[in-house]
Formats: sequence, structure tokens, C-alpha cells
Amino acid sequence: MPGATIGPRVETAVSGQPAVTSAAERRELLKAVYEEARHCTRCALHQTRTTVVFGAGNADADLMFIGEAPGANEDRMGLPFVGQAGKLLDKLLEEIGMQRGDVFIANTLKCRPPDNRDPHPKEIESCQDYLERQVELIQPVVICTLGNFSAKLLRGDSTGISRLHGREEVRVIGPRAVRLYPLYHPAAALYTPSMLETLRSDFQRIPQLLALGAPQQPEPVSPPPELEEPMPELDEPRVEERELVGRGAADPASQLGLF
Ligand code: URA
Repeated sequence: MPGATIGPRVETAVSGQPAVTSAAERRELLKAVYEEARHCTRCALHQTRTTVVFGAGNADADLMFIGEAPGANEDRMGLPFVGQAGKLLDKLLEEIGMQRGDVFIANTLKCRPPDNRDPHPKEIESCQDYLERQVELIQPVVICTLGNFSAKLLRGDSTGISRLHGREEVRVIGPRAVRLYPLYHPAAALYTPSMLETLRSDFQRIPQLLALGAPQQPEPVSPPPELEEPMPELDEPRVEERELVGRGAADPASQLGLF
């Protein structure tokens, strides 16, 4: 495997708790992360977004795709990759015998940058924890980054996609070791036939990577020490919980498109 490396371990909010193993349990926790994300105000993009685009697909997928950020269509519909680039992604998946329901698709940013400008470093930083928790809960075997932003974020360096595409490596993301497989962004491939051919041939390797199974996982983080004094019981629900009840929050899974 070219360039196999183990990256630095990044703690996330979910790690440090006892390992969650059942797919049903992980799916429920993913819905809880979604509930948190859809009211997010961590960066200024919350002022201009229409909808938080958390991600969609199979909550127990072996294969995850991570794009850049929602565009206008995604912002309106609340789902990732619903425009022309998404149609190409569907076609490429079909060519390897897969469909959206087999994978989970997310983005580096969950909210649309105005006028589809590039994500700012502060926005990427604010959103990173959601992505790490998604990876931790979905437990994919292979993560395909799409384009420069997600590859740079998950690899933790600035190497560009034209040098990286089609070369898998083992990386640790949060508490999870995955096979990271950088690919060109389908939106870029839409208008450049040679890039489309490269993307298509890189896609053909995905089934082989999936067949390798998950790489060896790092030791689980030991749970935090017990508090000597128990936390006082809260009589009142937290503000976010009250707000959710008050707004009659819809079943998150229906918008998420989880299977
Ligand atoms: N491009 C992306 O990177 N993500 C989307 O969801 C749509 C287009």
C-alpha cells in the first residue's frame, strides 16, 4: 500500500466513553450528533445558511465520501451532493455496483459558504468535530475524500489532490483507523474529461480496498476517571432539549436519509 502511515490521534467528544459496538446504538448516537449540528452556531455560516447539511446515507456504511461544502442545491434541500456533481457521483458508484444507500456522504463543512466561496480555516476548524464524530460512529473501512479540502484536513498536511489521488493510506481519524483514499472532486471532473477518466479509474479500486477490511485499530482510549463527587441532578431539561421539544423536531432520521 503506497504511503501507509498512521496519523496523529485526535480526541473527540465521543471517544473516552466505553466503546459503542452495536450499529443500532451508533445510529442513535449519530442522530444525536445531527440534532446538535442542525442548531449549530459555531461559525458565521449559520447566519447565511438555509439548512445544515449533515450528511446522508447508511449509518453503518463501510464506505464514506467526504466532499467540500454544500452548494446552493444542497443548502436548499438539506442533503449532500444533489446537483450535477452528485449525479456524477451516483454514476461512478453505479459503475462499481454500489448506490447511495450503501455509503455515507458528508462534507468538510456542514453549511454553505456564501457564493460557494472556499471554506475558511476557522470554519473548517469549527466543523471538524462533527466530521470526526461521524467517522467514529459510522466506523467506515474506507474514506474517499473528494477534492483538496477534505484530503488536506484528514491528512493534516497541504499536499494537493493531484499528487494524492488514487493512493490509499492508513490514517487514524479520531479513534478510528481507516483506509483513506483521496479522489478528485466530481465537480472538477465534470468539466475536464481527462480528470473524469482519472476519477473513474481511481473509483475502480474502491471494491478492492473495501475487500481488505478495516486496518488494525488503535487501542481504545481508557474511560475518564470517575468523579469523586457525583454531578448534581438537573431538574430542568437543558435549553437545547427544551427548544427541540418546543419546535416539534421531526424524526431526524427522515431528513438524514439514514437506512
Ligand atoms: N460539492 C460538495 O463538495 N459537496 C456537496 O454536498 C455538493 C457539492
